[in-house]
Amino acid sequence: MLFFRGLPVITLALSKGRIYDQTAPLLDAAGVTARDDPATSRKLILATTRPDVRLIIVRAADVPTYVQYGAADLGVAGKDTLDEHGGQGLYQPIDLQIARCRLVVAVPEGFDYQRAVRQGARLRVATKYARTAREHFAAKGVHVDLIKLYGSMELAPLTGLADAIVDLVDTGNTLRANRLKAVEEIAPVSARLIVNQAALRVKRAAIQPLLDAFARAVS
Ligand code: AMP
Repeated sequence: MLFFRGLPVITLALSKGRIYDQTAPLLDAAGVTARDDPATSRKLILATTRPDVRLIIVRAADVPTYVQYGAADLGVAGKDTLDEHGGQGLYQPIDLQIARCRLVVAVPEGFDYQRAVRQGARLRVATKYARTAREHFAAKGVHVDLIKLYGSMELAPLTGLADAIVDLVDTGNTLRANRLKAVEEIAPVSARLIVNQAALRVKRAAIQPLLDAFARAVS
């Protein structure tokens, strides 16, 4: 365990972009401000105005893994990412109500999805969210072949790679620009604060005030 002048150091894992930008004001309210901006700095470990709190910058899908193994005590991750990870070893105390969007099934504008489902068609579905998609379609009894992608899912139906996609939608602009439509909502998504369960037991005195500050900043 790392210490600063007798205090355990708390490590918080964040991803660049939407999550970082929307978490920073909540951190400010908790008295924690990064000393570098991850948008311009190449540092992966950022010191903050609190010498006992540091931030690490990781890929969004890696945040739960860092927290699960205790390399970070806390993290902020989308519910989409957490469901895909499975959430083992993680305590999810607070819905931060940021980075809100919806996880949906989308198809080309001219495709009759409901009819295809009624007819029992086997659909090819491209997604980054293989686990969540598999559970969703299995629960509905829809036959699918899943194709794992890492980005730009919207391209898959336009190039014949897939009939449908499972992806996040916020304004709907990306779907519209690519002549796709959402046909089913799988889940609403927002970012959650996650905590390593062992860290919470061992460093409770240090972590609890931060959790309280986050809770106050959100409500
Ligand atoms: P929009 O055009 O506003 O519907 O945004 C859709 C695009 O932004 C898709 O490529 C999504 O994967 C991505 N997106 C939307 N909301 C989020 C979010 N909360 N977290 C991560 N990616 C998102």
